[in-house]
This record gives sequence, structure tokens and C-alpha cells, in this order.
Amino acid sequence: MIKITFFGVRGSTPCAGPNHIRYGGHTSCIGIELDDRLIILDSGSGICDASLLALNNPHKEVFLLFSHVHLDHIMGLPFFAPVWRKNMTVHILAGSVAPYGGIHHFLSNTFTPPLFPIQFIDFPANIHCRDFKAGETLELFSNVKIDTCPLNHPNGAIGYRLNYKGNSVCYITDTEHFPGQLDPSVLALIQNSDLVIYDSSYNDENFSTYKGWGHSTWQEGIRLAKKANVKKLAIFHHDPSNTDDKMEIVEALATQEWDGAFIAKQGEVVVLE
Ligand SMILES: [Zn+2]
Ligand SMILES: [Zn+2]
Repeated sequence: MIKITFFGVRGSTPCAGPNHIRYGGHTSCIGIELDDRLIILDSGSGICDASLLALNNPHKEVFLLFSHVHLDHIMGLPFFAPVWRKNMTVHILAGSVAPYGGIHHFLSNTFTPPLFPIQFIDFPANIHCRDFKAGETLELFSNVKIDTCPLNHPNGAIGYRLNYKGNSVCYITDTEHFPGQLDPSVLALIQNSDLVIYDSSYNDENFSTYKGWGHSTWQEGIRLAKKANVKKLAIFHHDPSNTDDKMEIVEALATQEWDGAFIAKQGEVVVLE
């Protein structure tokens, strides 16, 4: 069984207020429970809400995989309770930071005064950082196999596919597609998977306005999902300008286009079995 919890679904910046209640305002963070093991994808502001789940893990261990290290995907890390507990082990893996000195170097130079009062190296948890190359397969523990691929994003990003006991979930954010050409590495990674969580910041109508910003559209997500024989598509990384009312329109259009699509909402849980 794979249990997926959407702790943060927003791109770019957290959004608070009455217009971002129904779909949620926290930035990217997904919890993935594989029986008694816990993997977390990205530490956007949503990771604060994953703290209890991690603290209760029987192994006292969490694996945090970064798509990349833009601010909206890391900002929650110092507020993730397990990093402050001596009895917790946090494995941090990244595949896009090697050109910038590696993930340990990057986090040590980011979470340090005066940006944050405590240095990353002084966080009390047992923190192990590991860099890998896009395309590598990761085996974090038995029964899980994680395939990776490069995404098209400024400063690089990594797409993931987690395979566990016959089920699979893919995390494809942040990435920009080339109109008229489905990304062959994404297509190969998501082939026949049960669920794809996809960067749907924009739509086909406004996409050209944001050329080079590194994001995709919900329509491209549907095209990829259909071509790759994917069962379900989670429309994800919502642009902050997409208020609840606008998201409702996207939801209606997307589900009309393909009944396998749905909008990822903060707090939503999906179980694959
Ligand atoms: Zn982002
Ligand atoms: Zn980004």
C-alpha cells in the first residue's frame, strides 16, 4: 500500500486568506507512507504539517527527497519538527544541486545567520545528505525502488517514480514542456504508473506568457498521462493567482477533458493498493 498525503500543493509562494482556503495555500510537500516507512517529497511550507507523522514513525526516520531547491520547495525545512529532535534521523537526497557544491553545502550556506538564527549543521537530528545524478535509481530500503529523471527547469530539477509492492506514484514538478512535443524522459518515467503528480502552474492559453519560467500546464499533464497509460493525474503546484474560484473552473475543465484527472487539494489523502 502507498499512502500519499498532500501537505502543500501551491507553487512559488504560500497563500493565506479567504481566496485560498478550499484548495490550500502551503507550498510543495507530499508525504508518502510505505507501510511503516516515510518518504517526504520537498519541504515547502506544507512540511510543518507533516511533522507529527514523521515524529510518530516507528523507525524514527524520514527520507526527504528534493525535486530541486528553489525557495518554495525548501522554505519549510527549519520548521519541520524532526530536525530538532536528537532521536530522529533525516536523510536528505537531491539530484540537482551538485553544480552548486552539493546538497549539504547548499543547506549549510542557506540555513545560517542572518537568514535563520541556527546553523543547519547545528540542527540536533541525525541528518545525512546525499547527492545523486538524474537518471540514477535509488533504493532507500527494501521493497522500494525510486527511478529519477531530469526535468526542464531553471537550475535543474528531478522527477521521481516510486515503485512499491506493485504500485507506483510519480512526482513531476517543476518542469516546462516544449509545445507539441511530449517530454520523452517524463513519458518514459511515468509509463503505466498509478498516479502522476504534475506541475500544472499554468494552462495552454496563458503558457506562452511564461516561457522560460520552468512550468507546465494541466492540459500537458493530461496529454502525458493519456499517452503513458497513467491511471490518475494530480494537478499540482497551483499558481498563487489561481484563487479557489479559478481552481474550481480548472477542476471542471480538467475532469471534463479526462476523468482520470483531479486537483490536488491540501490535506487530501490518496491510497494506492
Ligand atoms: Zn516550485
Ligand atoms: Zn522551481
